[in-house]
Amino acid sequence: MITSPAFAGKRYAVLGLARSGMATVEALLASGAEVTAWDRRPGPREELAGRATIADPLEIDLAGFDGVVLSPGVPLNTHPIAARARAAGVPLIGDIELFAQARASLPPHKVVGITGTNGKSTTTALIHHIVKTAGVPTTMGGNIGLPILGQDPLPEGGVYVLELSSYQIDLTYSLDCDVAVLLNITPDHLDRYRDFAAYRESKLRLFQLQADRRVGVIATPDAELIQKVLNTLPRPDVVAYPALASEILEHYLQASAPALQGPHNAQNIWAAMQVVEALGLPLAAFEAGVKSYPGLPHRMEIVAEHNGVLFVNDSKATNPASTAPALAAYPRVHWIVGGLPKGDDLDECAPHFGHVVAAYTIGEAGPHFADLLEAVMHVERCEMLCEATRRALAAAQPGEVILLSPACASFDQFRDYEMRGEAFRRIVSELTGNGAPAAWSAA
Ligand code: ADP
Repeated sequence: MITSPAFAGKRYAVLGLARSGMATVEALLASGAEVTAWDRRPGPREELAGRATIADPLEIDLAGFDGVVLSPGVPLNTHPIAARARAAGVPLIGDIELFAQARASLPPHKVVGITGTNGKSTTTALIHHIVKTAGVPTTMGGNIGLPILGQDPLPEGGVYVLELSSYQIDLTYSLDCDVAVLLNITPDHLDRYRDFAAYRESKLRLFQLQADRRVGVIATPDAELIQKVLNTLPRPDVVAYPALASEILEHYLQASAPALQGPHNAQNIWAAMQVVEALGLPLAAFEAGVKSYPGLPHRMEIVAEHNGVLFVNDSKATNPASTAPALAAYPRVHWIVGGLPKGDDLDECAPHFGHVVAAYTIGEAGPHFADLLEAVMHVERCEMLCEATRRALAAAQPGEVILLSPACASFDQFRDYEMRGEAFRRIVSELTGNGAPAAWSAA
C-alpha cells in the first residue's frame, strides 16, 4: 500500500467505505493518521471498529480535521457534507489528492492522468500495457476500479497510470501529472453539474493542475473543444489530435490490433502514442503493446462467433457518443439498443445508421428509441435483452455482427453495465451453445 509521512499525526474523516474508501482508511492508518470513518452500510463500519473512530461526519464537529475524504460517488452538488466541510474550513478531498500529497515521499516516478467522457478505461489499460511492454515498472489505478492507495509503491523510474473521472478531479487540488490526457467531452453526468460548461471546466482542471513544461494531450477531433482547451491553457506544450490521425492509424496499426477496432480506438491509440513519446519510451514497445493489448471486458468485446456471426458486447457504452464509434466499426450491424436513457435522442449515432441492418430496442428507452429509429431503419421492439438477442440471431447472416451497445445506463433492468454485459454473454452462450472463440477468450 502507499503510505506517507505527510499524513502522520493528522486527522481525517472518510465518508464512503467501498473499495477506494477502505484502501484510503488503511493507507491513512498505516501512515500514522487518526481516522473517523463512515458508511451507511454496517458491514464496512464493523470491519474498521477498534482501529478507526466510527462516526458519521455529518453528525460530528469537523473543526480541526485536516480533510474530509469523499468517495467520488458522493454528489458534491447535493450532499450536505459539502456545505458542512466548507463551513468548518476543512478541505473536501479524494484518494487521488492523498496520492498527490504522498508523491514527494515515493521513489522518483512519473504520473500519467487520463480523463474524458468516454474511453478512459481503455486508454488507461492500453498505456499501462505499453509501459509494461517497454519493461518499465508500472501500475494503474483510480476510476478503473483499482484504488491507487491500495497498491504497492513503484520502484524508481516507475510510471503510475491513473484513470480520472471528473468527480475525482473535483476532489483533487495538487496532482501535477507529467502527462495529462483529455480524450473527449460530451454531455454526460449532467445531474452532478450545473450545466455542460461546468462539467467541461471540471475536466479541464486536470491540465490546470499541471506545472510548467508538462505535457497535455487532447485526443479529440472536436476543433471547438481543442480551441477551448488552448484558450484555457496558456501553455505551448499541449498536443492536439491531428485531422488525419484516424486514417493513418487505421491503415498502419489498427489492422493488427484486434482489441482496438473502430475510429474511437484510433483516438485512444493516438493518445497512447503521445504519452509514449512524452515518457521517452521506445516506439517498438508502443507498436508491440498496441498489437498485444488484450482489451477490457464489456468494451467492444467479442464474446462469440457462431455460423459466421460475431457477437460483440459493448455494454459499457452508456451514452450515444460511446455507441457511435461501435456502430462505425462494423459495416453490417444488428444493434441492441436501450436501457435507462441519458437523453432524448440518438443524434450522435445517426452518421452510422447506414451500418445498421436492424435495431432491437430494449428497456425503458425502448419505445421512444423505436419511434425515433423506425423512420430510418428496420426496428424490432423487444423490451428484454434475451428476446432482442434471440431475434437478432434469427435474422443475422454470416459476416454480420450482433452488437449490444445500448447508448443508455443499465439501472432500469440490471445492477450495472457489468451485469448487463454478463447477461448478454450468458444469453449468447445459451442460444449458440458457444463461448468466446479461443483466440479471444484469453483477452
Ligand atoms: P470510460 O472509462 O471513459 O467509461 P471505456 O474505455 O470504459 O471508457 O469505454 C466506454 C465506452 O466508450 C465503450 O463502449 C467504448 O467502446 C467507447 N469508447 C472507447 N473509447 C472511446 C472514445 N475515444 N470516444 C468515444 N467512445 C469511446
